[in-house]
Amino acid sequence: MKILVTNDDGFHAPGLWAAVEALKDVGQVFVVAPDRDQSGVGASLSLRRPLRAYEMAPLVSGGQDKIVAYSVEGTPADSSVLALESLVGPVDLVVSGINQGSNLGEDVLISGTVGAAFQGYVRGYPAVAISVGAITDTRFEVASAFLHLLGIGLAQGSPVPATLMNVNIPNEPIEAIEGVQVTRLGRRSYSESVTSEQDGKHTYYKINRGTAVYQQEEQAEGTDTWALLHKNISVTPLYTALTDMERMPAVEEIFQEYSHKLLGR
Ligand code: MN
Repeated sequence: MKILVTNDDGFHAPGLWAAVEALKDVGQVFVVAPDRDQSGVGASLSLRRPLRAYEMAPLVSGGQDKIVAYSVEGTPADSSVLALESLVGPVDLVVSGINQGSNLGEDVLISGTVGAAFQGYVRGYPAVAISVGAITDTRFEVASAFLHLLGIGLAQGSPVPATLMNVNIPNEPIEAIEGVQVTRLGRRSYSESVTSEQDGKHTYYKINRGTAVYQQEEQAEGTDTWALLHKNISVTPLYTALTDMERMPAVEEIFQEYSHKLLGR
C-alpha cells in the first residue's frame, strides 16, 4: 500500500512527521511537501515557473518500507500534483497534515492543508486533510492514533470513502475527547485588517489575520465548529459543489431582467 503524506506547514513541521510516524508501519510512505510554511495558500498551483524537488533524508526512521521524502520549492497543491503525477504515481491514500491550527468552516477555501488533499481527491484517491485545533503547544497524539487506525483499516480492506475528508482534532489528551462526529461545515471567517507602509518609493501592504468570527446561526450541533468547541473530533466530507442552490431562484429572477436588457428580447 502506498501513502502520500504532504502538508502546508512545510517539510520540517513536526505534524508532517507525526503523520509519517503514524503510517510508516501500515504501508510505504512517500513524503512530498513544500520546503517552507505555506499556510493559507489554498489550492494554488505554480503554473508560471519551474518546480524543483529535492530528495531528502526522512526525519523519522524505520517503517515497513523505506520512507522516500522530497522537499518541493512550491505550494502544498504543487507538492501533491508533483507526487501523484510524477514522483510517486498512484497511491492508496493521500494525507495532508497534521496541521497546526484547525481548518473549520470557511477556512477550507484558503487552507493549504485542504488544498493539497484536494489534489488527491480530484484524482480519485481517498484524501484526508487533518488538523489539530492549536497553533502552538500542539498535541499530535490523538491525530496520530486516528491516522494509524485509518491506515490499518485501509490496509485490511475496510472501506475508506473516496472523498475528501476534512478532519479536525481538539487539542486535548485522548481522555478529554468526547467522540467522533461527522459534520457539515459551519461558518467561521476572520476579520482581516490591512496595514500599509512606505518603502520610500511605493506603498506596500500587509494583510493581518484577525480573530475568528463565528456566525451564530451556524453554530448549531452538527457543524464542524460546534463539534470542535465541544471537544469532538470532526470529520467533514467535502466535495466541489459550491453552488448556492437555495439562492438560485432569486438570482435567476434578477438575471432574467438583465438578460432582457442586454439582448433586447
Ligand atoms: Mn498550516
